[in-house]
Amino acid sequence: MVDLIAQYQKIKPEVDSAILNIMETAQFINGPEVKGFQKELEEYLDVKHVVPCANGTDALQIALMAIGAKPGDEVITPSFTYIATTEVMALLGLKPIFVEVEKDSFCIDPETIEAAITDKTVAIVPVHLYGQAANMDQIMDIANRHSLKVIEDNAQAIGSDYRMADGSTKKTGGLGHIGCTSFFPSKNLGCYGDGGAICTDDDDLAAKMRMIANHGQSKRYYHDMVGCNSRLDSIQAAVLRIKLRRLDNEYISARRSVAEHYNNFFAQFPQVKTPVMDIYSHHVFHQYTMTLDGVDRDGLNAFLAERDIPSMIYYPVPAHRQKMFDAFNSADTDLPVTDWLTERVISLPIHTEMDKEQLDYICQGVADFLTK
Ligand SMILES: *Cc1c(COP(=O)(O)O)cnc(C)c1O
Repeated sequence: MVDLIAQYQKIKPEVDSAILNIMETAQFINGPEVKGFQKELEEYLDVKHVVPCANGTDALQIALMAIGAKPGDEVITPSFTYIATTEVMALLGLKPIFVEVEKDSFCIDPETIEAAITDKTVAIVPVHLYGQAANMDQIMDIANRHSLKVIEDNAQAIGSDYRMADGSTKKTGGLGHIGCTSFFPSKNLGCYGDGGAICTDDDDLAAKMRMIANHGQSKRYYHDMVGCNSRLDSIQAAVLRIKLRRLDNEYISARRSVAEHYNNFFAQFPQVKTPVMDIYSHHVFHQYTMTLDGVDRDGLNAFLAERDIPSMIYYPVPAHRQKMFDAFNSADTDLPVTDWLTERVISLPIHTEMDKEQLDYICQGVADFLTK
């Protein structure tokens, strides 16, 4: 699904020398690379504060802790997402309230949010799934009317430009009260291990998140609140600085041209619904995900595997059907759009190093199955 080796080869001299430099100075933790990356990411996202942390799951957990969510509080979130989004809620004793997604954007359907709000609701966690933003205008409007916090799960959409009502753009992650992202190697901005970051324009939330990520201390050995240990290390930060400079003009543009190629090719098949390029934001195509109607989706998955073409189902079981959440689910959780999509989506390889030959081979493989 990705080719991280070919991508590394192109930046190898720069990466190798940055990593060697860290080995030689032994500044593995909180060194200048981490501070440098933090500043550069603040500029890139146009936010006041970035708090680097150990991974995207921690970023979500720290954000939920920082808004003061307590056991029993409710958080509204889509079920159609990666498990990390909702798992951290359960871990903190919060109750995830699963709502629907839109068929076109695959993101939380704002029309379903208001009915899910109770006096226990503290936050909304939209997920910018596959690389495209949720309808943040409507989500922020609902949140502001009900005094709720919005924590964006931006793990799959870093770099996406959201179109504001006045026509200007702002990067996803900087639209809600807090934005969370992941630098897992296969993400659009990936490091060579684990990494994550949280961002906000709010000084108090930033200070709190910095403390939580550092054992609840702001002064060494004085622990004012329960926190955790969540750091981005210097080697990962050095890699991320090199890759951040290439994110827009090399990585995202390469992904978008792959998506355009697929979209053009699959336009001839009415049973294939190709992803809409830009709904509320500029799609950065973390995944290229099609929706199939009247096609044996799992059959296609197996057929492609026989030809050594990877394809994936993101995700085969929505959160509200995971055993993990048995205790949280009310019997009336009914998400027909989520279930409908779960049975029909399939993702094809998309990454920064794809060539025409690979693309043609993949397209032909899918076409052969569809016309069989
Ligand atoms: C990858 C991902 C995460 C978690 O990030 P990790 O760095 O793997 O912990 C959270 N949410 C979504 C939507 C993701 O895709």
